[in-house]
Amino acid sequence: SKTQVGFIGLGHMGNPMAKNLIKHGYPVIASDVFPESCKELQELGAQILDTPADVAGKADRIITMLPSSPNVIDVYTGPNGILKKVKKGSLLIDSSTIDPAVSKEMAVAAEKTGAVFMDAPVSGGVGAATSGKLTFMVGGAEEEFTAAKELLSCMGANVVYCGQVGTGQAAKICNNMLLAIGMIGTAETMNLGIRLGLDPKLLAKILNMSSGRCWSSDTYNPVPGVMEGVPSANNYQGGFGTTLMAKDLGLAQNSASNTKTAVPLGSLAHQIYRMMCARGYASKDFSSVFQFLREE
Ligand code: NAD
Repeated sequence: SKTQVGFIGLGHMGNPMAKNLIKHGYPVIASDVFPESCKELQELGAQILDTPADVAGKADRIITMLPSSPNVIDVYTGPNGILKKVKKGSLLIDSSTIDPAVSKEMAVAAEKTGAVFMDAPVSGGVGAATSGKLTFMVGGAEEEFTAAKELLSCMGANVVYCGQVGTGQAAKICNNMLLAIGMIGTAETMNLGIRLGLDPKLLAKILNMSSGRCWSSDTYNPVPGVMEGVPSANNYQGGFGTTLMAKDLGLAQNSASNTKTAVPLGSLAHQIYRMMCARGYASKDFSSVFQFLREE
């Protein structure tokens, strides 16, 4: 029978991900700072422990799915952190979206205890987490990739090896920076067309058969009434929150500074999403930038 897998961080994403591990026959040992978040998993037979250190004392494969860099630092290196009780040879996989520099620090700290750390952030939202169709972008020692893939493929349709530790995060934040730029571009373009008298559905149709086409125009159009089954059709509820997008754009900015890379549009996109957070859009889907621009 399969051996236990630890899971720390049972939020929007972690909860359905851990459920898929259970579905594939892995006994799960979980922990979260909010005991409330553990209820569902406990009902499915998972063992719930108080701290990440307790989980590390029992399971030698652990997945973490936490909000941001400070939480990851705390869960790995804090007083009740994984590294306090981790077993030698353990495989530690962090699927949170964080600063690649922090992933590298965690890998160094883990190595000192004889454990292996890999970064494996995901693309795809709660829907993909629930259906086990996430894409994992994995950074770390290549010889550990097969072991990581065994677990990650229970939760994802694509598991892609990116290179040394931190490169999974790099791939993730590059994608999201381009996504943000494309979404803002689509929103302002659609708005201009509408003001010029074009029907939004017709404009979207023309863009999508022309060179301006992108994911934000053809799969996730930000204009209400253009598409069904997307957040713009539902008052921008659900989907990918503006706060999370602002966070990811901040990570891209840090990384651009660290590498002295010019990212002028990424920088502007960051400012726009931060302004939205301060003006009541924080919990709306990031395609609400269309509404934000309309109101300016
Ligand atoms: P979330 O806030 O819903 O869940 C995070 C969980 O971590 C919470 O249950 C929280 O209680 C727990 N936590 C925080 N600090 C902890 C600690 N010290 N010890 C134990 N548990 C702790 O966030 P989410 O939406 O599940 O996202 C997780 C990560 O995945 C983020 O980095 C996010 O950017 C990324 N991501 C999210 C989506 C999405 O659509 N939600 C998509 C792709 C990637």
